[in-house]
Amino acid sequence: MKKVCVITGGSSGIGLSIVKLFVENNYLVFNLDLSPSPTGADCKSEYRQCDVTNIQQVSEIITDIATHHTIDVLISNAGIHFSANIENTSEDDLDKVFNINVKGAYAAIKAVLPSMKANRNGAILLMASDQALVAKHNSFAYNLSKSALASIAKTTALDYASYNIRANAVCPGTIETPLYHQAIDNYCQKSGADKAAVHLEEEQLQPLQRLGQPEEVAELVLFLASDKAKFITGSLQVIDGGYTAQ
Ligand code: NAP
Repeated sequence: MKKVCVITGGSSGIGLSIVKLFVENNYLVFNLDLSPSPTGADCKSEYRQCDVTNIQQVSEIITDIATHHTIDVLISNAGIHFSANIENTSEDDLDKVFNINVKGAYAAIKAVLPSMKANRNGAILLMASDQALVAKHNSFAYNLSKSALASIAKTTALDYASYNIRANAVCPGTIETPLYHQAIDNYCQKSGADKAAVHLEEEQLQPLQRLGQPEEVAELVLFLASDKAKFITGSLQVIDGGYTAQ
């Protein structure tokens, strides 16, 4: 029988690579996203239109999936970037980042726990960031949200270890996705900087002298979700080309 994986934000970037790799590895994947993937990868996964900030909607969709399937894996991946220091972050900006990045994870985890507890099995992955470990300039709300996800991985790991439910945070460095391109486009628009130059600078900031690719993050997530990682819980798994080792 196929293992079942629920992912949020699986229609683009890192999430889309995860959906493709899990489908390839014989998982039945449910992708909860605002919109379906433009590439058609959703043909091979089950798409459920969902806004993760709508806690009731997340709960209803996941409860419905759990009624028909045993959910083995949850990947809370949906997230947005927001670039500003604390003074330039309005209360609305802070709420928006927190509602998607943190409350979205809270909603999805809360919704899968009853069925994972009943099955006494489950793997939960939270897409955090290298910014759960180090600060970056002009990243007040995003940094805070990713640190919160690292905390959620640890508390969930402790509270549900007795049910054989594992929770880990994945901490990617700079990964070349639509979110990355949008972030540097915004920066270039505000500062007038040249995009190619900024991209090159970003590459040179990484000890491996390149950005990560979403497929590389997907491989780590597949491993952490599998029984090969059955003694790994409460951890922050860095995949950043050496950035946080500096
Ligand atoms: P992405 O390409 O923008 O993909 C994010 C996906 O989440 C999109 O499909 C987006 O849908 C969806 N989404 C956004 N808001 C949502 C909501 N309210 N409800 C449901 N789905 C929603 O971003 P990515 O770079 O792959 O990032 C994925 C995760 O990795 C994020 O949590 C991000 O913070 C984290 N991360 C990324 C990097 C990086 O360098 N790229 C590094 C570290 C961590 P729409 O496109 O329709 O908005």
